[in-house]
Amino acid sequence: MKNRVIYVDNAATTAMSDTAIKALMPYLKEVYGNPSSLHTVGQLSNEALDGARETIAGCINCDKKEIYFTSGGSEADNQAILSVAYFGAVKGKKHIITTAFEHHAVLHTLNKLEKEGFEVTYLDVHSNGIVTAEDVRRAIRQDTALVTVMFANNEVGTIQPIAEIGEICRAAGVVFHTDAVQAAGHVPIDVKSQNIDMLSLSAHKFHGPKGVGALYCRKGVPLKTLIEGGAQERGRRAGTENVGGIVSMAAALKEACANMRANSEKMEKLRDKLIDGLLKISHSRLNGDRERRLPGNVNICFEGTEGESLLLHLDSKGICASSGSACTTASLEPSHVLLSLGLPHEIAHGSLRISLSEYNTEEEIDYIIKTVPEVVETVREISSFWDDLQTGKIKHFI
Ligand SMILES: *Cc1c(COP(=O)(O)O)cnc(C)c1O
Repeated sequence: MKNRVIYVDNAATTAMSDTAIKALMPYLKEVYGNPSSLHTVGQLSNEALDGARETIAGCINCDKKEIYFTSGGSEADNQAILSVAYFGAVKGKKHIITTAFEHHAVLHTLNKLEKEGFEVTYLDVHSNGIVTAEDVRRAIRQDTALVTVMFANNEVGTIQPIAEIGEICRAAGVVFHTDAVQAAGHVPIDVKSQNIDMLSLSAHKFHGPKGVGALYCRKGVPLKTLIEGGAQERGRRAGTENVGGIVSMAAALKEACANMRANSEKMEKLRDKLIDGLLKISHSRLNGDRERRLPGNVNICFEGTEGESLLLHLDSKGICASSGSACTTASLEPSHVLLSLGLPHEIAHGSLRISLSEYNTEEEIDYIIKTVPEVVETVREISSFWDDLQTGKIKHFI
């Protein structure tokens, strides 16, 4: 195990699969045509694009005309939200509903809209990391244009009642968008039976390449363009398509969906072993619902520790994990996701996210179960906060 890196930060990004790499290769050399060119070389690229669109549509049960390629999950989120907001405003609908624990690609887009005069309702997340369809129903108003609720949370892995929320939105005539970046390729998605109007996905979260994603937009829901220019993506997203990336994304998603059941069975087994092993550490707790969570997600708080210290110690022992989302580790603010679950600042600071993929092995899990307690002990030894807990100066939360 020494000198080998154990990668358990798959919610931040995943390694590309051999299938995705193989699918990409021809587009780095032989198939270089611009899909908009009418000649043979261009048309080869255009056909590849068309095939990829069909494959991705098949994986989420929509029509290929409802798929728009983007530069990733963030762009898809931005486009979906801004589009519905601006079209809604024309009809006097300037209210949007979301949750307090969305990804920043959603939250920051909504902050921008608030500055422009839109009103946003942030639904509280229950302590198990789940919002209910009933919460959404109660928040809908006459002037609500959009509900955007993530499919699965990127930090605590909880899966939201998407089909039920979609049903309520459909009945109320409100557009329903879901950021499914963590869900795509990992849990079943069917935009028809789950009543989804718009959905974002990103290739690098399911063993595809970085910098490419897709937005599904149901026929009949108007879509505004963010990037002006050529007529690519039926005029909704200008710019020469990332043909190789798109083909590779389609190959990765197809593979992930074909192997979904076997992969999640494997990951759930490893995940549950890891959770049971780590909860043996004193004053620890699992964040997010134990059952309704992504097959690969483990998120645990250790009282009297700091996520950043845990990470650095784990890294020196060859374990690559995360203390929350990759986007927030640069700041020392505790994660907005853990705070939204009602955890106090002190506890939210000491959290560790271990996100597995089907590439992880039981041997790796055993090594993590052996190593984390040592690291927690080391970090607690130098923590004045832990000291105060031990002497009774501060009361234990967990
Ligand atoms: C990673 C992630 C994104 C951002 O996707 P990019 O392709 O990196 O822009 C958005 N939402 C969620 C839930 C994510 O996990």
